[in-house]
Amino acid sequence: MRLLSLGLFLLINFYTKGGFSNPICSQPIAVNKKFQNLLNARDTELGKFSNKKEIAAKADHTLSTLIAAKSKIIGNWMNKRVLGNATEADIVKQWRVYYAQNFVLGKYPNKDQKVNQLIKEFIENFYSQFLPKKEKGRIQAVFHKAKSLAIHKIKSFKIKADQKSQILSRVSAIKLYWMKKFESSKFKKQPLEVFSWGVAYDPAPNEINIGLEVLQYSSDETLFAVFAHEIGHSFDPCRWGAFFKGSFAFEKVITCLRGKNSVQAKKRDDSKMKKMVQAGKLSKELAMALKLNPTCNKIQYPPIGVQSDQAPESFADWFSAEVTSEYKYLSGNTRTDLCASKKLRVGSSYPTNNFRLERIFLSHPKIRKTLKFKGEGQYCSL
Ligand SMILES: [Zn+2]
Repeated sequence: MRLLSLGLFLLINFYTKGGFSNPICSQPIAVNKKFQNLLNARDTELGKFSNKKEIAAKADHTLSTLIAAKSKIIGNWMNKRVLGNATEADIVKQWRVYYAQNFVLGKYPNKDQKVNQLIKEFIENFYSQFLPKKEKGRIQAVFHKAKSLAIHKIKSFKIKADQKSQILSRVSAIKLYWMKKFESSKFKKQPLEVFSWGVAYDPAPNEINIGLEVLQYSSDETLFAVFAHEIGHSFDPCRWGAFFKGSFAFEKVITCLRGKNSVQAKKRDDSKMKKMVQAGKLSKELAMALKLNPTCNKIQYPPIGVQSDQAPESFADWFSAEVTSEYKYLSGNTRTDLCASKKLRVGSSYPTNNFRLERIFLSHPKIRKTLKFKGEGQYCSL
């Protein structure tokens, strides 16, 4: 028995080397140099930014005030970073970066106009350095292809004419959002988000926001599938209630995605809602709106740790599989981003990466055949 389990252990280790045992993750994934350069440059430039005299002076002043007041904040901050034996110069250096990230770049505008000018230059320079014209052109071309194949796919769906025309008009109007001037951009309130945003659908203006993390996708094939996923969010079950008339066209798909042979998309846990309304932590109006839209997740509800609804993300993955199955460059380099065994927070709106990849993407009959996927998983056809 011991030997058998050891054998099984070795077997599992062998097959999961570098990811999961499927045709996408079992091959070595090339290092993404562009993204690595971005991360390195971010650290270097943040260091330089935090040493600018206007910022360093504020950081040092705060540090000495906190030390003089014997504040616990500094002790905790040092403990967290194991700085007990660090030199004073090292502590100051790290503190300046921390200060620059959290108190300078964490919100905009600052009271000091000179600091505002520095933030503006920092963000604009970084964005144009890593997303130059050529890079934008490449991303724009991949998006264009994803959008036109998405339109082609939607046209082929056997849904009501009225549903189809509404979806087509919304999808046709989606544009990419690029930062031009920082001052008038979506990054204005939270400058640091320029680094943490990748590709995200923004429903009100019907745009896909492009942040520097767009560079994390190491191939155009993956970026294509990611764009198809974001396009899917423009008519996912949550957005349907807000932007479309009549019944949702993909109820059957959602029911299937919740099933045990598919991705097992979890429902939103509403059991804490009543108590939160009673405690004044959630408005009655929002609670009612949420009840009417059972697949929507908002910042106010569900709170962290309480189950979010996984239908919108699963649906966007499903739509991405539909569109990508028609993509002639579909290869083992598609959706390699899902090979990372990311630890999800409790109640996440995402199913696990493994499930997203194997139970939705690779289970699509055409993709399964092209990539020779042999795993289990029932595909949810329309
Ligand atoms: Zn999504």
